[in-house]
Amino acid sequence: MTGPILRIAVPSPLYRTFDYLPPPDRDLTALRPGLRVRVPFGRRQVVGFLLETSDSTSLDPAALRPALEILDSEPPLPADVLALLQWARRYYHHPPGEVFATALPVLLRQGEPALPPALPPSWRITAAGRTALAESAVLRRAPVQRLLLEHLAGCADGASLETLRPVARDSAATLRALRARGWVELIAAPTPNTPTPPPPRIPHPPLILNAAQAEAIASIAAALERFQVFLLEGVTGSGKTEVYLRVIEAVLARGRQALVLTPEIGLTPQLLARFRERLPGPLAVLHSGLNDRERLNAWLLARDGTARVVVGTRSAVFAPLRAPGILIVDEEHDPSFKQQDGFRYHARDLAVVRGRQLGIPVVLGSATPALESCQNARRERYQLLQLPERVGGGAEPAIDILDVRRQPLLEGLSRPLLERMRLHLARNEQVLLFLNRRGFAPILLCHECGWLSACRHCDARMTLHLRQRRLICHHCGDSRPVDSVCPLCGSVDLRPLGHGTERLETALRQEFPDLGIARMDRDSTRRRGSLETLLADIHNGDHRILIGTQMLAKGHHFPDVTLVGIVDADQGLHGVDFRSSERMAQLILQVAGRAGRAEKPGNVVIQTHHPDHPLLRVLVAQGYPAFAAAALAERQAALLPPFAHQALLRAEAADPERATAFLKAARALAEPLADGVELLGPAPAPMERRAGRYRAQLLTQAARRQDLHGFLDRWIARLWEHATDRQVRWSLDVDPMELY
Ligand SMILES: [Zn+2]
Ligand SMILES: [Zn+2]
Repeated sequence: MTGPILRIAVPSPLYRTFDYLPPPDRDLTALRPGLRVRVPFGRRQVVGFLLETSDSTSLDPAALRPALEILDSEPPLPADVLALLQWARRYYHHPPGEVFATALPVLLRQGEPALPPALPPSWRITAAGRTALAESAVLRRAPVQRLLLEHLAGCADGASLETLRPVARDSAATLRALRARGWVELIAAPTPNTPTPPPPRIPHPPLILNAAQAEAIASIAAALERFQVFLLEGVTGSGKTEVYLRVIEAVLARGRQALVLTPEIGLTPQLLARFRERLPGPLAVLHSGLNDRERLNAWLLARDGTARVVVGTRSAVFAPLRAPGILIVDEEHDPSFKQQDGFRYHARDLAVVRGRQLGIPVVLGSATPALESCQNARRERYQLLQLPERVGGGAEPAIDILDVRRQPLLEGLSRPLLERMRLHLARNEQVLLFLNRRGFAPILLCHECGWLSACRHCDARMTLHLRQRRLICHHCGDSRPVDSVCPLCGSVDLRPLGHGTERLETALRQEFPDLGIARMDRDSTRRRGSLETLLADIHNGDHRILIGTQMLAKGHHFPDVTLVGIVDADQGLHGVDFRSSERMAQLILQVAGRAGRAEKPGNVVIQTHHPDHPLLRVLVAQGYPAFAAAALAERQAALLPPFAHQALLRAEAADPERATAFLKAARALAEPLADGVELLGPAPAPMERRAGRYRAQLLTQAARRQDLHGFLDRWIARLWEHATDRQVRWSLDVDPMELY
């Protein structure tokens, strides 16, 4: 007898655990699941996770290698996160090593000790800084500096660099510049666990809650000791954040912590400033802009309870908490909560699982909840809380459908829309145009022979970017100079087809030569600090017309915008994915919600060639809840999610035959196991060739979730045994959000 066998999740893409012998000279009574273990793996040494100890192994014990070192005396992840990871590993059928690695900061994955955190030093605004802020002329040409100063002016106890990073992209450099001018100072942090006097609170006028807010808060506050999911459906401006804040205050009063998840782009300076101003103590912020050291530190502050409120993006659903009290998912419909590669988990769904495991409430908030969540509310699995009015009164924006059939279009804009624009612009108001396609035109076409600007590596057209004078593929990133003559026939009559934001901007500059026009998309905001400058100029009123992609839909508010034009709704109404219309409805309402204020509500105009589209009509005439009901009825009739459960097996290879052959073999393995499960495919992916590889997919679907997962349990294990073609890359996507 060699003692217990260690079953270890090793960070590798293999769908299995690995058995090791304990390291020599180690007290085996202290072995506990969750400890990090350094083990030999092939010719390397890696840090794995001890999942369990066992008396037996399916391998020859004599062939097992001993582990090298146990790295922790206590598991770095609390028991509830380990339980969540075990659940996620089984549910998503993903290699355990990668699942467990997802939950740990990089430095801990590399084997660093998980020491108690140090509170980072804080930046604070000085008196001179406040004076400078008042004389805004000084800072007028330095919007990033002003943004940071304004933010710090709202932080009574200062703010650490890591929490300032989302405020402005050049935070570190900007803070140095501000310090050189004497407008900010760096103060040492108190050591954790030594009691510090409470920071002076900034007095703010007491907010009066409306009846719906008060009711929502009371319902959640009454459930703080048990698991209950609340769907907080509130129109934009209805005061969801205030509900979060009051509920968090109640949780903190019980000595517990709150975890708030937001989409990456929703993690705005305004949101953080509000949290910081209202809630006591340090805030841990976890997002992709942190370096490894900052991330580890914020993670440790959450784990030891120093940070009582943790705000983070998708992967923060695994954040360790010492005394978890509530989980909140803001903008719960946002597609960015689903990881789209590797370990494809859905952070909202995992938040619900974590809440259930912990016996604490979960709040999902949105103006436009996902249809899955709406259906859970209808089935009374979730308790629906509605905030139907905007805070401070004020009407919701009026939405009009504009039939553009047979209308002359100026670069995609109809005359009636242009006339409405002139009307609002003449009143000195701002106009926002939403077009979810960047670049100048999605296609370059030869008028002589019909040649199209195709990507060499994908089944896609290359988008014309006139300013950069390049054709760019938005799928693989390949780019080349714009052709001056047709590569096929030599004609010079090459014409851009369709519209992107860049083309719209060019047309509007000709139509409104005297007005400031701003474009907000990934191209125009790529340079550091450019988004901040753009936003500051918009708020100053320097730009009267704003054009943008879905970047416009999140986080920012434009109170002087009184007209929103949705340039092209047809793309979303007739997309390849069955979720297209849901996404389009969400985007329309999110963009509409950016506009106007109580005394000046916005107007929304939707241009479409399908003015009688039933879902669009319901959305416009009756609002999102009615739209959701109608869309759910369509899904039910078609037996699509949430009335069916899906898992998508994707395969790709340089050789198209191999990807399909793999999926055919996978289907043959599946057929005897697929009880109550439908197998659809294999079929080429909607975009068959992408970045030079051929992609195919096999969809599995079942009416009952347990049928699908029972099947997957048996099928995926066999697939790993039989999948021997190393030329084929494959992956399983459980509850896929995109079917390509
Ligand atoms: Zn040609
Ligand atoms: Zn491409």
